[in-house]
Amino acid sequence: LDVIRAVEPRVADAIGQEIADQRDMLKLIASENYASPATLLAMGNWFSDKYAEGTVGRRFYAGCRNVDTVEALAAEHARELFGAEHAYAQPHSGIDANLVAFWAVLAARVEAPALAKAGVRNVNDLSDADWAELRQAFGNQRMLGMSLDAGGHLTHGFRPNISGKMFDQRSYGTDPATGLIDYEALRTSAREFKPLIIVAGYSAYPRLVNFRIMREIADEVGATLMVDMAHFAGLVAGKVLTGDFDPVPHAQIVTTTTHKSLRGPRGGMVLCDESLAEQVDRGCPMVLGGPLPHVMAAKAVALAEARRPEFRDYAQAVVDNARALAEGLMRRGATLVTGGTDNHLNLIDVASSYGLTGRQAESALLDSGIVTNRNAIPADPNGAWYTSGIRIGTPALTTRGLGATEMDEIAGLIDRVLTAAEPGTTAKGAPSKAQHVLDPKISDEISHRATDL
Ligand code: PLP
Repeated sequence: LDVIRAVEPRVADAIGQEIADQRDMLKLIASENYASPATLLAMGNWFSDKYAEGTVGRRFYAGCRNVDTVEALAAEHARELFGAEHAYAQPHSGIDANLVAFWAVLAARVEAPALAKAGVRNVNDLSDADWAELRQAFGNQRMLGMSLDAGGHLTHGFRPNISGKMFDQRSYGTDPATGLIDYEALRTSAREFKPLIIVAGYSAYPRLVNFRIMREIADEVGATLMVDMAHFAGLVAGKVLTGDFDPVPHAQIVTTTTHKSLRGPRGGMVLCDESLAEQVDRGCPMVLGGPLPHVMAAKAVALAEARRPEFRDYAQAVVDNARALAEGLMRRGATLVTGGTDNHLNLIDVASSYGLTGRQAESALLDSGIVTNRNAIPADPNGAWYTSGIRIGTPALTTRGLGATEMDEIAGLIDRVLTAAEPGTTAKGAPSKAQHVLDPKISDEISHRATDL
């Protein structure tokens, strides 16, 4: 930090404060983790300075032999770990990985037939008329993705994200009675809508997804099944999700982030069948800028870690801890969406349990040293900004070695804060969905306990 402080002390201070915050507070954000020192060191070095557009052994720049080594290692570890035919380690983030995947499917299923029909190999060789027709065809494709309030992600075809502008999107949701994905409703919707891509995967669904059924539905309607396993990749890597619940044998294309339950550096990755490999490898420069060699080095390290037997214990502990947290919360009277969890996350309905919005609950918990995020719940009366839910996940605290006993205590701390917190008012005294009131004695006491834990 002294080296940084000599140049810009405010950055050094912010890094120091971030380390302290991550040590002192209870990190329950379901998409966060603590990467290992080996992963962090692999990322913080001179690889960052290297340009390496292209793919392993086929670069547009000279001097890429070391980048080739780490990119090949990252891909090899990913293939071995997940049993995938092909792995692409370049995406800079989960959103980028999804964009690469969308374009790969469009290239294979829309562009390739158009090129074949025109009798050319390259888009540059299409006549202006054929090119105009192909661009129209790109704009007319459909995607079926999980609705946001059921736990889907913005990149699965929603309007605020470019995927919603690229595709005509329809979403599938959950059964209001059970909170679980309604596969028969999904099948009916897919039959009517005939999407090019069905996207499975979520950011805030506390249960398992049956990818065998999803593939069956995709095959029936001629869609490509894409699974975004960003959240639960660590559970797939750790062999907690197997059989129907492991997306890799079922989907033609799988995307992930590397920094959530997988515990690697911030980044993304695409796994696919051999049939889509060529299109996926065109991710840069199709939608990605030059690859980040330092991050690919860190991906290789983190994936090597995830191939060790200890990672299986870790993944199982993540799920056991989420269950212990769920039980602790429900025993104290909290309502959880779907009544529990099968994976690494829980969604507390704080509106019905504690009379708070998600925003109020999130800030009351933060005041008490517990870091979470607000999240919409199905048919959320408070909308996507204030929300009625709090999402909590166990990947980070499990990395720190906390177990079921601590989870039960943390459930008690969360329950105490949310029971004590009350909706607040604006400066003018009007009810506010953003403000909360919490006795500072309670938040101080809980913060101290959070630090001790
Ligand atoms: N996909 C899912 C399911 C996610 O939950 C997220 C991030 O929260 C992303 C994609 C995007 O990842 P990134 O923030 O790395 O772009």
